[in-house]
Amino acid sequence: MASVTAITRQIETLDISSGVKTAGNASSGSSARPLHAKPPSQPNASKLLTKYAAPNPFLKAKPAHPPSSLRHPTQIPKPPAYSGTPHATTGDTQTSFDIGLYDGGLEVDNESRGGSVTGEAAETLALDSSISGQYPTREWHLRDFDLGRPLGKGKFGRVYMVRTKCAPKYIVALKTLTKSEIVQFGVEKQIRREIEIQQNLRHPNVLRLYGYFHDETRVFLMLEFAGKGELYRQLSKVGCFSERRSSRYIYQMTDALKYLHSKHVIHRDIKPENLLLGLNGELKIADFGWSVHAPGNRRTTMCGTPDYLPPEMIEGKHHCEKVDHWALGVLTYEFLVGSAPFATPDNDQRSTSPPILCPVLDPTENTSESYRKILKLDYKVPNTVSIEAADLISKLLKSDPEKRIPLADALKHPWILWYRPKASVGQSERTS
Ligand code: ATP
Ligand code: MG
Repeated sequence: MASVTAITRQIETLDISSGVKTAGNASSGSSARPLHAKPPSQPNASKLLTKYAAPNPFLKAKPAHPPSSLRHPTQIPKPPAYSGTPHATTGDTQTSFDIGLYDGGLEVDNESRGGSVTGEAAETLALDSSISGQYPTREWHLRDFDLGRPLGKGKFGRVYMVRTKCAPKYIVALKTLTKSEIVQFGVEKQIRREIEIQQNLRHPNVLRLYGYFHDETRVFLMLEFAGKGELYRQLSKVGCFSERRSSRYIYQMTDALKYLHSKHVIHRDIKPENLLLGLNGELKIADFGWSVHAPGNRRTTMCGTPDYLPPEMIEGKHHCEKVDHWALGVLTYEFLVGSAPFATPDNDQRSTSPPILCPVLDPTENTSESYRKILKLDYKVPNTVSIEAADLISKLLKSDPEKRIPLADALKHPWILWYRPKASVGQSERTS
């Protein structure tokens, strides 16, 4: 029987679309143990899985390379038609992960928010990973999933914990986007871009998009399940993070950004609200709505969130991937202090306000004070923050983008190295 740790690892590394395992699959192996027996010492992820559910007996028969059955429809038993009525998924004795109770929200939303779209917009939103060029998946439909508990609400729809009905029963977060609302906000091309970018990314600290499909009124995204939810919620709960915790998050963040930049992807909207936590508490960059694939390109569009905007964006200058270095500095500060370095008291509505997207600076009264501070590099690190952390922040928050510390050097900064788990230091040295 597969151990909880092994299942955790399978979930973390499953690749529904391409058969490629993520870089994070090198965790230590675990020996088989009876399902009912309490493991001597479970890692955090195991505890979480135990909390969510019992292990899945189907995973025992899982092949060494998990994804193939999800790529080839012929190997998948035909699922029963989707009933469309709210249901719990725990009644089936063959399903052993408890994905919680479905609340019927998708049907409610479809009644109240639905409405089909037509024309060019409909074509742009006919998103289907089974026909996507690089990593085609099998064809997916809503009826292929057991629906579980709600995980959250996004701008365009709800997010649910779901499980594929076909074995092996993968757990994913299913995010719904209402087509008519996407069109109403005129962001169909942006959504398509978000999906296309995220679909091609493979990094343990970047939330995976396993596949996507659509029906007449909605687009569905099959996302990696981030078991510990929003990082922002954790930060709000504790006020600020310890040096150790901040350093480890910033290490993961830096590594993920380095990966993104190597793929010519600039995220452009790094902030705690866009970060989720995986089953082991590892950081996952989510929300690629404002990212851009810009090989060799410099951009002038202003986007992001006021507190995290770099000077060059405020001034409407060309910008490049160094905007993410700046945001990393802001993030480091916010983790350690509990507020952003250039935040002003009346500009503290960040989590509810949408990102700005305009070609020229158009500050409101609330944001202009922040902008002034950003342009003057007017911030102060409290003396509760270590000298080493303050040093890294100052090397990231440079007005001149070219002077910001390269991510490879940030990874070797004493504040990062000091707190890095020994195993990961060794691993990185072996692979670099
Ligand atoms: P917002 O503008 O509020 O950020 P959004 O459209 O970007 O909305 P998401 O942030 O992706 O939507 O999802 C809304 C919420 O659902 C998240 O804040 C989070 O709580 C939950 N959620 C989204 N994706 C996942 C996931 N993969 N695993 C676990 N929870 C998730
Ligand atoms: Mg979000």
